[in-house]
Amino acid sequence: MKKNELAKGAPMLTDERLEQARKMILATSKAPLLPTGTTTTCPVCKGPMVTTNDLQRVLAVPHGVVVLTRLPGAVCTRCGAKAYDAAAVALTLEHSGSEIIADYETKVTRASGGTLGTYFKADLSRVLRLTGKERLRWKVLDKDQALVEVER
Ligand SMILES: [Zn+2]
Repeated sequence: MKKNELAKGAPMLTDERLEQARKMILATSKAPLLPTGTTTTCPVCKGPMVTTNDLQRVLAVPHGVVVLTRLPGAVCTRCGAKAYDAAAVALTLEHSGSEIIADYETKVTRASGGTLGTYFKADLSRVLRLTGKERLRWKVLDKDQALVEVER
């Protein structure tokens, strides 16, 4: 990812302030905010959210995937929405560092009808050696993350 492009026109956190925020989050308690089993209201569907100590989160790291388990937070019994406590965010940060782990960014675009697509920029096509005849196999890790394998 080209950081300079992202920074244009948008206020950027300095490394120092980012590190301060990171330390503050890491210093918070690792226990759930509410006792496990407490029911709260889901911000997405208004269904019942149950506090748990057993959430799971999958992180992409440079050489694979890390699965964090036993994270504190709450999960909606109706729609499955998850809310991670600050403690879970802290545990996640400890394992991921503060950088977003991505080499390239593409935009999802809407084609005719409901079909979605994405365009590969030239540098991404070059490093993956795409010619336009490949198939991409997607391993979906969760709703925010997937691994892509090129089949030639
Ligand atoms: Zn819900």
